[in-house]
Amino acid sequence: MKGPDADHDAEVWDVLVIGAGPAGIATARALREAGITSFIVAERRHDVGGLWNYRSTAGEIHVPVDGVTFENCGASPMYKDLTTNLTKELMAYHDFPFPDEVPDFPKLPRTAVLQYYHSFAEAHGLQAHMEFETIVVEVKKDVLEDVWRVATCSQ
Ligand SMILES: Cc1cc2nc3c(=O)[nH]c(=O)nc-3n(C[C@H](O)[C@H](O)[C@H](O)COP(=O)(O)OP(=O)(O)OC[C@H]3O[C@@H](n4cnc5c(N)ncnc54)[C@H](O)[C@@H]3O)c2cc1C
Repeated sequence: MKGPDADHDAEVWDVLVIGAGPAGIATARALREAGITSFIVAERRHDVGGLWNYRSTAGEIHVPVDGVTFENCGASPMYKDLTTNLTKELMAYHDFPFPDEVPDFPKLPRTAVLQYYHSFAEAHGLQAHMEFETIVVEVKKDVLEDVWRVATCSQ
């Protein structure tokens, strides 16, 4: 599943989650709750948080898959001083509230949201499943073997 030659450099997992943004870490938590432990979360950036993990500039990495160029981290579509457009009650996972001391809309800063996702990942033991700085560059169904073959690129 990993590396340019899947037959010789393969890791086998039951589930691959692409991206450690809010959706990816919620998926990872749900997998664990369902008793599924054979999974990884491949994240091209260095940390959880998705676009809340603000970056001002994008980098590029050239990957030998059809000559395609991928962004290695991507400039965030957020801006540095963003405050949310929703309340923290609406943004929170249903069973994991924001801390009381965190300010609410309209003064809930991007940094507090990022910290919240960190806390969520930590509280649910998700870090062990994370493969950071790993870009998923290709996902193909192998019909004969009935598996998905995934090519990743680490930076
Ligand atoms: C300007 C702006 C303001 C917003 N304000 C709010 C707000 O106030 N409240 C709110 O609830 N929502 C807001 N949002 C919506 C925001 O999109 C969601 O909160 C949330 O970040 C979506 O989570 P996600 O996991 O779906 O996607 P993302 O946060 O985009 O995470 C996707 C992750 O996948 C990774 N990834 C992508 N492709 C690959 C690949 N091929 N290989 C490996 N990793 C990959 C990315 O690096 C990223 O970490 C805002 C969005 C924008 C742009």
